Amino acid sequence: MSDAELVLRSTRVITPEGTRAASVAVSAGKITAVLPHDAPVAEGTRLEDVGDHVLLPGLVDTHVHVNDPGRTEWEGFWTATRAAAAGGITTLVDMPLNSLPPTTTVDHLRTKQAVAAGKAHVDVGFWGGALPGNAKDLRPLHEAGVFGFKAFLSPSGVDEFPHLDQAGLARSLAEIASFDGLLIVHAEDPHHLAAAPQHGGPRYADFLASRPRDAEDTAVAQVIAQAKRLHARVHVLHLSSSDALPLIAAARADGVRITVETCPHYLTLTAEEVPDGASEFKCCPPIREAANRDLLWQALADGTIDCVVTDHSPSTADLKTADFATAWGGISGLQLSLAAVWTEARRRGHDLADVVRWMSTRTAGLVGLDARKGAIAPGRDADFAVLAPDAAFTVDPARLQHRNRVTAYAGKTLYGVVQSTWLRGERIVADGEFTEPRGRLLSRTP
Ligand SMILES: [Zn+2]
Repeated sequence: MSDAELVLRSTRVITPEGTRAASVAVSAGKITAVLPHDAPVAEGTRLEDVGDHVLLPGLVDTHVHVNDPGRTEWEGFWTATRAAAAGGITTLVDMPLNSLPPTTTVDHLRTKQAVAAGKAHVDVGFWGGALPGNAKDLRPLHEAGVFGFKAFLSPSGVDEFPHLDQAGLARSLAEIASFDGLLIVHAEDPHHLAAAPQHGGPRYADFLASRPRDAEDTAVAQVIAQAKRLHARVHVLHLSSSDALPLIAAARADGVRITVETCPHYLTLTAEEVPDGASEFKCCPPIREAANRDLLWQALADGTIDCVVTDHSPSTADLKTADFATAWGGISGLQLSLAAVWTEARRRGHDLADVVRWMSTRTAGLVGLDARKGAIAPGRDADFAVLAPDAAFTVDPARLQHRNRVTAYAGKTLYGVVQSTWLRGERIVADGEFTEPRGRLLSRTP
């Protein structure tokens, strides 16, 4: 490895071929070789031996609401990417809504890129948005480098990002299919939501009843039907209802091009434990019962669910009122996602390689970054997290880098302490100390 600038050495390196002791050679920000642990290191090469800490590929979080510009009091590129780095995430893809403007035209994309430039501590890419009436903007956005298009089938929560009805979904998806793009869908059916009991107030049970599983199941079935008809590529966002899993498995067996994500909060929290009035737990679709959670884990294990992303969607604390009907719906989990998922995964007998597959390899693949991100392998970017997997900590909101330190995980004891995070061969955070932002703005690879 005489030409390597840097070698990272660990007794536990998670590679696509398995977890083993290895020395990872890095030059010009890329991994050049994965060598035996005791491979000689040339004079002049910097050696970072992390001992028994685990070296894993930096996580790729494809579902983050940065809200910048326009609602920067909710989050922002500076704070979101610091939180990501602190949590072992080296790439995030920003959702097209809750910022002003939303990412629904090329002009708006340029505005967002200009705001993100110079503030990104990790690499940042962008989703576009599919709205009623913007079908003509989709191909230009695709060519400008967005990774795909988000649509809602029910109200999004912000007026400037209206949802698609079934005819609108068909129009947008036909356009996206014409250039073989990707549609990512918030799948809840508005008619089922409208028919559900809407009591409002602080009781979590009432909120859960207002967002029933059949709203999700119906919308997932609609998306499958449209994807099948158009042979289009679709992705179901933040799946919560385990009842939709058989539909998804059957669609995939039938050749439908569908992928599915779920989120740390659906995998680690349960409806039974949400205190009344605790709207830091509010998100849509909602956190459901423990038995539902068990089936989501089973689907991750058997591959029906592809990946795990945060859906980090913060707001200011004042919008998290005690009334579940009117409180902002969104969970802040960016910095804690690796530890939260790992804590529950290890309890269920999974290993860290499973977590890496769900939170890095598959998410990189979802957005077509799998030649650059998502694995410790020659040719990939030298993005790493160094993790002490058996070290525990208690979540103290004061230690979060999120702009608003409201979290559903406060007080929980989690396993997995991120020792340092590396982006293209540079350590970007260690022990809470950050370098200047070195993240790049990513575009879809043609
Ligand atoms: Zn979201």
